[in-house]
Amino acid sequence: MRAMLTLPIKTRFAPSPTGNLHLGNLRTALFSALHTWSVGGRFLLRIEDTDAERSRSAFTEALQDDLRWLGLDWQEGPGADGGHGPYLQSERGSIYEGFYTRLLDEGHAYPCFCTQEQLTAQRAAQRAAGQPPRYAGTCAHLGHAEAEARVRAGEAHTLRFRVPEGQTLDFEDLVRGRQAFASDDIGDFVIRRADGTPAFFFCNAVDDALMEVTHVWRGEDHISNTPRQLLIMRALGLREPSYGHLALIVGADGAPLSKRHGALGLSELRRRGYLPAALNNYLARLGHNYADDGLLDMVGLAAGFDTARLGRAAARFDMDQLDHWQRLAVAAADDAVLLEWAGAAVAPVPPASRDVFLAAIRDNVLFPGDVALWAEALFEASPPRSAEAETAMRAAPTSLFEAGLEALDQHPQDFRAWAKAVGAATGLKGRDLFMPLRAALTGQVHGPEMTRVFPLMDEAGVRERLQSAARFTTE
Ligand code: GLU
Repeated sequence: MRAMLTLPIKTRFAPSPTGNLHLGNLRTALFSALHTWSVGGRFLLRIEDTDAERSRSAFTEALQDDLRWLGLDWQEGPGADGGHGPYLQSERGSIYEGFYTRLLDEGHAYPCFCTQEQLTAQRAAQRAAGQPPRYAGTCAHLGHAEAEARVRAGEAHTLRFRVPEGQTLDFEDLVRGRQAFASDDIGDFVIRRADGTPAFFFCNAVDDALMEVTHVWRGEDHISNTPRQLLIMRALGLREPSYGHLALIVGADGAPLSKRHGALGLSELRRRGYLPAALNNYLARLGHNYADDGLLDMVGLAAGFDTARLGRAAARFDMDQLDHWQRLAVAAADDAVLLEWAGAAVAPVPPASRDVFLAAIRDNVLFPGDVALWAEALFEASPPRSAEAETAMRAAPTSLFEAGLEALDQHPQDFRAWAKAVGAATGLKGRDLFMPLRAALTGQVHGPEMTRVFPLMDEAGVRERLQSAARFTTE
């Protein structure tokens, strides 16, 4: 009767720690978390580290750190026991053994002694005969006694699932609607490798059921795995989750997303200074649309998440869109967050002025590297000047900068009063007045409001910049 009970909603993210997280699997994690949180459910993290050759504990650590950094905290998983652990598949061997025994005893599985060479030859022969390559069934009909004897003799073998003939395996995909697969198209498949480790189809299916996952969100590339997983769960009488296969993310040219499209791994995006809010807001809209096009926090993203708003078409990744969300995230960040984000970029700014400095320039920066440029422009001796700034300075009379130096005695802090005095002394106004002053003080023709940054600048530094501008226009 237990299988009949309605379980509370639980989604999961089940990465294989064979590399760093990239945007595709991050979006899967995000959608899984947002879906469950939108209905008050739990988000589970399971580490699928059965491929001992390719799995690394450093990746397991890094992906947990990345998820936490993004705010994708799991309510169940490593470090958060929910009574269904362990949550690393490499530690679940004894659990899997019991299920293998059951499948063998009930005739749903059998040992397969075919070598790699034999399997390769079988597939080649099938291809040559115009048939789809699938396991030819060589060991499916070995007598029980013979198979036992060969296992006992220590002959290397895998375990294969015996796919029943003539069945239609169907399920209602949460994104793509009804899916149906003929069991006759599926060859008997490996559920335990020759080295004794569990194969993906098996442990992924068993764990989703044992961990009481109700909804599985994953990439569309997994859709043909689902019928195999349903077969395993049905043979074991396990409860099946609902599956939703998400449309893939592609680059502007329609090809699967790769570095070529500017799509980077999360570690690289973090290094560049993208904020979690920018990534979450952008990824949540890649293949899912929100009624609200403003920056949302995680609670808002979850509240607005609706599985009915998931797209079936491939989602196109666009770096400019990500930068749009970065701009909004920088504008909305708390002062303390911004200060930490800026890190060493604010080194030239006196500590007491850093908050005000960041507040003044936040609309003009996307990354800590941009912060560093403004910190240098406003606080370091002889900052670089753009070509436009030099043109603007050359177009101004030298007397402008001399008047600026003179007016400083009276107005060392108040930009408006200072500029007004300079205007009165020179007869210049508007753009002719402000553009060369900005160029002289910042080395740029665009940038933060001068009224906000001028009071932060050291008076000697301002003097030095005006003197240098005066020299430059007479050169
Ligand atoms: N470990 C699998 C992967 O990373 C999980 C697939 C799934 O979500 O079911 O592709």
